[in-house]
Amino acid sequence: MPELRNPPGTFDVLPSESGPWQEMLSTFASTAGAAGYELIVTPTFEDVGVFTRIGESTDVVRKEMYDFVDKGGRHVALRPEVTASVVRAFIQHRPVTPWKAWYAGSNFRFERPQAGRFREFHQVGIEAFGSSDPDLDVEVVTLGWDFFARLGIKGVDLLVNSLGDAACRPAYRQKLLDYLMARRGDLCEEHRGRVEENPLRVLDCKREACRAQTAGAPLQVDNLCDSCAAHFERVTAGLSALSVPYRVEAHLVRGLDYYTRTTFEYAGTMLESSQNALGGGGRYDGLVQAMGGPPTPAVGFAIGVERTLLALGATGTSPRPPARLHAFVVDFAGGDAARDITRELRQAGLRVDRAFDDRSPKAQFKAADRSGARFALVVGPDEAAASQVAIKDLSGGEQHPVGRGDLLETLRAMLGAGSEASLPGRSHPGYNRTP
Ligand code: AMP
Repeated sequence: MPELRNPPGTFDVLPSESGPWQEMLSTFASTAGAAGYELIVTPTFEDVGVFTRIGESTDVVRKEMYDFVDKGGRHVALRPEVTASVVRAFIQHRPVTPWKAWYAGSNFRFERPQAGRFREFHQVGIEAFGSSDPDLDVEVVTLGWDFFARLGIKGVDLLVNSLGDAACRPAYRQKLLDYLMARRGDLCEEHRGRVEENPLRVLDCKREACRAQTAGAPLQVDNLCDSCAAHFERVTAGLSALSVPYRVEAHLVRGLDYYTRTTFEYAGTMLESSQNALGGGGRYDGLVQAMGGPPTPAVGFAIGVERTLLALGATGTSPRPPARLHAFVVDFAGGDAARDITRELRQAGLRVDRAFDDRSPKAQFKAADRSGARFALVVGPDEAAASQVAIKDLSGGEQHPVGRGDLLETLRAMLGAGSEASLPGRSHPGYNRTP
């Protein structure tokens, strides 16, 4: 039988490697929670229409979507991003605005797997609905910035731009299209064919041919209407006031078509340039209405979990690993004590593990050592007969017998302040390997 393996473009994060992953998620949850965002969970698959409405010309929808007809005859798609699902949920449940949500979960895109680019990948993100106040843009952009800072990631560049709105974008779009049509023959092969469909995308094409042609192209930031210009000015002034360093990148368009006004990206200078977007987002004031809801301004971002962890690895900082076990029960008197003590101590809030399968004392002590626990709680036939447990410090030292009834209190006292000591370094998880 051929060996079963994970599909191309996916990876496993094994229990021994998942500490940074877990730490990253909890840092995100607390950063978003502290700003009044609450967790939203939406389905991993949706009616395909939820995603086609975010923009038929978006690569994510046009070329990369995992869509299929299910056994009930419904045309569904695995989500390629989360914003569309959150918008769908907003329209469906009509919550009171302002409505602020954060999420964490996986997305699916049929891309060519390479370093930092997967077919199933994970994002954390926030969305805020119901306000067009530029100070909300500042809050959202700053929240992502502070998240990277809390993880200790160094070398994040914040790029910001404004894409205008329905008042000024059409005229600008035409101006850009006229400019690009005059140079069409010199664009890269893909954009030669698609320039009319979405001229803005040519601006952030990374290929040399397009770059050479767009160097002198008209820019949206120079063609904003008065209200978009004022909005953008308040956003950049807010970032400056909060000492969040940013750079206006007038070619920043981003891959999804629904953005209006503010767009931004967190670029990791430590990653290879074609894969250096750690995350990004923007305002999407027209999307709720385009998807069938009431006119509702909104702004948000998505940050790639794998990229963020790669950035963490590359800049040498590592999130605090998970706390080690407090104790490991070594029971060679039949197993009753192991069964009862683990339950009792876990219910009291301690982290405790044990061995199974009636293993020899030697094998159990070895397992206790390997587990990284601070103490072994030893129950042999003598202890069992005397209703006692011997507490042994696994970093060396004597065994202290205590009565069963005093175990919790004694253990708590012995654990004292050093109980959160960390585990040794971690190995290389799947997202860190080139597929
Ligand atoms: P997007 O939804 O395309 O704006 O992407 C937001 C973030 O998700 C990017 O900045 C990346 O960090 C991450 N991301 C997007 N596509 C992938 C992928 N195929 N594999 C890994 N991470 C991705």
